Amino acid sequence: MIYLDYNATTPLNESAKKAILNSFGLLGNPSSVHTYGRDVRKVFENARDQIAQFLNVAARNITFTSGATEANNLIINGFNGHILIESTAHDSLLNAKSGNTLIRVNDHGIIDSNYLEEKLAKSREPTLVAIMAVNNETGVIQPVQEILAICAKYKAHLHVDAVQAVGKISINYSSLPSFSLSAHKFGGPKGIGALVINQPLTIKPQIKGGGQERSLRAGTENVLGAVGMGAALAEPMFNNVQLTELRDYLEKSINSISNNVVFFGKNSPRVGNTSAFALPGIKSEIQLMQFDTNKIAISSGAACSSGKVKTSHVLKAMGINDDIAKCAVRVSMGNHTTKREIDEFLKIWQKLYGTNPSRKLHA
Ligand code: PMP
Repeated sequence: MIYLDYNATTPLNESAKKAILNSFGLLGNPSSVHTYGRDVRKVFENARDQIAQFLNVAARNITFTSGATEANNLIINGFNGHILIESTAHDSLLNAKSGNTLIRVNDHGIIDSNYLEEKLAKSREPTLVAIMAVNNETGVIQPVQEILAICAKYKAHLHVDAVQAVGKISINYSSLPSFSLSAHKFGGPKGIGALVINQPLTIKPQIKGGGQERSLRAGTENVLGAVGMGAALAEPMFNNVQLTELRDYLEKSINSISNNVVFFGKNSPRVGNTSAFALPGIKSEIQLMQFDTNKIAISSGAACSSGKVKTSHVLKAMGINDDIAKCAVRVSMGNHTTKREIDEFLKIWQKLYGTNPSRKLHA
């Protein structure tokens, strides 16, 4: 099997695996006062410290959650005021609550900052702006510092979904008022993530109970998850220079088969590991099945829990018409991806292209 779906999830890296195996036998609840409890608490807090150190933020600002979906829900639902969300954001931001205002993006997937300023100037209540550092479907990088300056001008709180940025681009995490993370996107285990809040902000907890995580997220802590998350950061998963080379090779090779393929977000800053494009005439799900039959795992964009392929709201927001968006796929790579694997992908893509009844229209 060739795995080209790193934006959906990454393989558990060796550091994370080792750290989790080492902690498997730990007894004790981190809230217990006896030695067992104190020992496991130490391991848990050590994981928090590792993450804090890597991100250059204070450990006390990190709240562990079950993942980025929960972290995004916690900040959106816990905030009392008006919420503006980037229209190309992940569903865990967009669907957390109704009644939000969407922030437009341009055809290249970049936030329309004039539009954002207009909305902020009109907002009469405390305002939270939620954006993505890197888009999971297209790899497009938002100008986070520029948006941060605009939010500061209007005294709005900026929340950044940094899920697809960790290990791929450098970000000044301590400058962000808040951000969310997910361990399984950078070599850690699934089911653990964090909400990091660097600037004073009152939010209501969504899970109430025993007061864990400074009463922001109750429930006995996911110790093994946190240990895996902390350790995962020690092992870089995405070499941007190497991945950009592979991505450019992939896109150039596709262009040499057909010069009419649209690469989404190509004219914007993008992370090197992601390429999203359409083969007009063949629906995404047909392409995914064909690749899967040929032992290649790719995706159509966001992984949907039902396993269904839905037309992308991201591409729609970028003004891509439905006929093209329905035929979009995403290739996302990591450090283990090889040129030989990309060549295999290209072989199948060329075959598919050859069977496309409408290829003459697009050739
Ligand atoms: N935000 C982005 C940008 C993502 O890619 C994902 C995962 N697809 C999430 C949030 C949700 O993360 P989790 O899987 O930890 O719930």
